[in-house]
Amino acid sequence: MADKKFVYFFGNEETEGKNSMKDLLGGKGANLAEMANLGIPVPPGFTITTEVCVLYLKNGAYPDGVLDKIDTTIKKLELASGKKFGDVNDPLLLSVRSGARVSMPGMMDTVLNLGMNDASVEGLAKKTGNERFAYDSYRRFLTMFGDVVLDIDHHDFESVIEAKKKELGVEMDTDLDAGALNDLVEQFKLIIKDNTGKDFPQDPREQLMMAIEAVFSSWNNQRAKTYRRLNNIPHEWGTAVNVQSMVYGNMGETSGTGVAFTRDPATGEKKFFGEYLMNAQGEDVVAGIRTPLSIDTLQRTMPDAYNQLVDIYLKLENHFKDMQDIEFTIQEGKLYMLQTRTGKRTAAAALNIAVDMVNEGLIDKRTALMRLEPEQMDQLLHPMIDPNSEYDILGTGLPASPGAAVGKVVFTAEHAEEMACLDKKVILVRTETSPEDIGGMDAAQGILTVRGGMTSHAAVVARGMGKPCVAGCGSISIDMANKIFTIGEIAIKEGDYISIDGASGSVILGKVPLITPGVTDELHTLLDWADEVKEMGVRTNADTPHDALVAREFGAEGIGLCRTEHMFFGEDRISVVREMILAEEKEIREIALAKLLPMQKEDFVGIFKAMEGYPVTIRLLDPPLHEFLPKREELAERLRLLGSEGADKQKIDKIRKVMDRVESLTEVNPMLGHRGCRLGITYPEIYGMQVQAIMEAACELNSEGMEIVPEIMIPLICHVNELKSVKENIVSIIESVLAENNCKMEYLIGTMIELPRAALTADQIATEAEFFSFGTNDLTQTTFGFSRDDAGMFLPVYVQDSILENDPFAVLDQGGVGELVRIGIEKGRSTRPDIKIGICGEHGGEPNSVKFGYNVGLNYVSCSPFRVPIARLAAAQAVIEKEE
Ligand code: ADP
Ligand code: MG
Ligand code: MG
Repeated sequence: MADKKFVYFFGNEETEGKNSMKDLLGGKGANLAEMANLGIPVPPGFTITTEVCVLYLKNGAYPDGVLDKIDTTIKKLELASGKKFGDVNDPLLLSVRSGARVSMPGMMDTVLNLGMNDASVEGLAKKTGNERFAYDSYRRFLTMFGDVVLDIDHHDFESVIEAKKKELGVEMDTDLDAGALNDLVEQFKLIIKDNTGKDFPQDPREQLMMAIEAVFSSWNNQRAKTYRRLNNIPHEWGTAVNVQSMVYGNMGETSGTGVAFTRDPATGEKKFFGEYLMNAQGEDVVAGIRTPLSIDTLQRTMPDAYNQLVDIYLKLENHFKDMQDIEFTIQEGKLYMLQTRTGKRTAAAALNIAVDMVNEGLIDKRTALMRLEPEQMDQLLHPMIDPNSEYDILGTGLPASPGAAVGKVVFTAEHAEEMACLDKKVILVRTETSPEDIGGMDAAQGILTVRGGMTSHAAVVARGMGKPCVAGCGSISIDMANKIFTIGEIAIKEGDYISIDGASGSVILGKVPLITPGVTDELHTLLDWADEVKEMGVRTNADTPHDALVAREFGAEGIGLCRTEHMFFGEDRISVVREMILAEEKEIREIALAKLLPMQKEDFVGIFKAMEGYPVTIRLLDPPLHEFLPKREELAERLRLLGSEGADKQKIDKIRKVMDRVESLTEVNPMLGHRGCRLGITYPEIYGMQVQAIMEAACELNSEGMEIVPEIMIPLICHVNELKSVKENIVSIIESVLAENNCKMEYLIGTMIELPRAALTADQIATEAEFFSFGTNDLTQTTFGFSRDDAGMFLPVYVQDSILENDPFAVLDQGGVGELVRIGIEKGRSTRPDIKIGICGEHGGEPNSVKFGYNVGLNYVSCSPFRVPIARLAAAQAVIEKEE
């Protein structure tokens, strides 16, 4: 232990860390070190490692030697900065900053100007000749120390500032002079004494130790935990602490502070993008205290600093080969960098930047493919307001995060979360958001704030979440007491519908129709690169020609699951379907089936055409028959009405008969009942009609010169003999249709693997099946013994309490269900080595499940049309990740 290095120095003269040490130094610390290594001006400082945090939180004490090391490193810092920590005449002041491996915006707060006290504030005023600056720094320090370290509500301090401004009749913090700031300092010290029962600690070293401890402890505060849970960040990582000498953006009108992105984080456009404030410090820019200026203004007002900043950002982007999010401070005209990190961006920006950077020769295609989270693609295909619709724009804020959203107005994060539990769509309307609101922001469809810029908390978090957000809509005023907000003349109550457009910043009264944009050139490009890399096919689940065409647009290479039951529900069909089900004798049933045959054929013609040249897997009828009959309660109600109207007996008898049939078909447990191939075995004529329709459609198109590849899939097989029996029935029909049409065509007969017994006996089933498709929805249901329809009662609790990591219906359970998939594949291939194997069901478009599918050797995945791009990217990433 003793020889472990717990503290790393950084500065332009000497730096011990580097960018690759993020695990140890945290993202902020590692990148500060890297910037120092690159010769970029960084105020010197040191990083206390994440290991110290982990040990400190575990043992409640620092590992041996850490405290001494901190003291000796401060000595080094004093040498580097030429100032002494605790010197009353010219104090070395410090910032104490948290920094985990990945950035956790707003999670753990920074303390600035640490080391100040009643004596050194005067020394600083004298030394700099700037009394206002000295007291401004001191009051800021007291607030941050009070809030972050002593856990005093920051509103307590802010209300004192507000009162002071009112008293003096000024609007801005910058209008407060030294005397006013000194008053604030005195009042703040009283607040601290009132809240803690102790005087504000005047000893700089004590301040420092308290601040370091506060950063470590903040790793386990509620906000940090929530953020980690939402972002799958391990709780064991811990945070580093960065202690850095201060530079001052609040020294007057030639000083300032700002944040910038090396490219536009909303669109990806290659354009330097940022905001700053003069005579400001720390988080002023993002806190929405004053409206920040655009970085372009800096070019005009301080060209030297601006040009230096441009050189630095270009250097950083070239070095990190990715878009950077940077923080800087200008002290009396001199520029310092305080942070750089990979910038968060919208999905559209991620896509455009990745494609641009390949074209610029900065990164290769494979790197580009890893730059987008597959789930992010969802946002690209996300809703926008139908341009053909008409609506009233109530007001406009900043277009902080793209996408459009419609929902009921709520005013608190808590309320948003409650409504989300009830499946209600809401828009969270806040004056400004803070980290406490994260849960509610996640639950809302969109976020609307009154204050704050493009880099405000709301904007940054919404972009990260892919939520539409309109920020800084200043024409709104919220009346929390009456749960109402007004915008212009209009008052909108809690629960009223509004729409927001995060791409234009519009706030709209009522519900607007949303549409989803198509696939852009950049998306095509990236997905083409994905196709070059991926080895697994991506098909779609589509039941209609329309869905099939949409999926083709998204790059589907065939249909992996075409469910035929939806076709039975068509308005023109359901009566014939009911006729078929109500028939007591086979002959009568066959008459009804004969009526259905041409309709089914028409369905298949449409689908085959849409997928010309690609395989189409059609699943024969799966659900229990009573699903096609009216509900029992509905029939009883109709009978009651007819009775009270005195309707004739014939009418009443007819409904009675339906009711009897419904009753006889009703099952206690339909999921495990008379469905799937069990229907095909008891009513062979139903499957007979379906395969006849399939093959007639295929032959017809084939004769027109189209290449048709039918794959007939039998659902819910648990025993090879079921498949044998069904095949016996359908193969003869298929062959006779082919013979009648004089048609030679390849076709396959295969099965769903969706019951544990099927997976376990896949070797036997494969002797009859030419392909397998894992129906992971049913397989999850039957493996866990969780009813899909009833799991809502307990699954959320399971996930909440970490009994299960994920909802297994959303993310494939690799350990259990996945194990059955693995066994099924291995056994299936043992008796039929060239068997084609895929997966259909919700998991086919879930990135982790897609990657799992690749690793266990699937030939393809199949998912809903809008998830096809996600699956294509995930399939490519699976290959790249395996190679790495
Ligand atoms: P976050 O992780 O929330 O971005 P930071 O540690 O980056 O927190 O600190 C927030 C802000 O505090 C920075 O953007 C910067 O403006 C200011 N800051 C941090 N360290 C210093 C410093 N050494 N000198 C001046 N300002 C600083
Ligand atoms: Mg912060
Ligand atoms: Mg920062």
